[in-house]
Amino acid sequence: MTIFEKIAAREIPAKIIYEDGEVIAFHDVNPQAPVHVLVVPKRAISRLAEATESDQALLGKLLLTTAKLARDLGIEKSGYRIVINSGRNAGETVPHLHVHLLGKRALSWPPG
Ligand code: AMP
Repeated sequence: MTIFEKIAAREIPAKIIYEDGEVIAFHDVNPQAPVHVLVVPKRAISRLAEATESDQALLGKLLLTTAKLARDLGIEKSGYRIVINSGRNAGETVPHLHVHLLGKRALSWPPG
């Protein structure tokens, strides 16, 4: 089980803000912005690089859920960034696909 599957199974505590049959979202334990939420498919895909056509609907759902949460968290108008780290050079640390939702401060570009 990945750490995020354990969160979904309530084996590890997390500040969960949204859940449905396919997706769970919770606050990142090491936030990089005043809003830093992870949006995670319950079915573990290791990373975006491993996603296949059969994951198309789930990937769409992940993004639409992220946009909804940004609205709910009040950062839609001020703006926000989503990040998906895939693989070593991106700094991926948890091998379970997840979308970072970052907001409530100005974010610099390009990323480091
Ligand atoms: P990544 O580096 O893209 O793989 O992102 C993994 C993220 O998961 C990091 O931002 C971590 O802070 C976060 N994280 C790791 N363990 C937990 C946890 N138990 N609860 C919430 N967030 C976590």
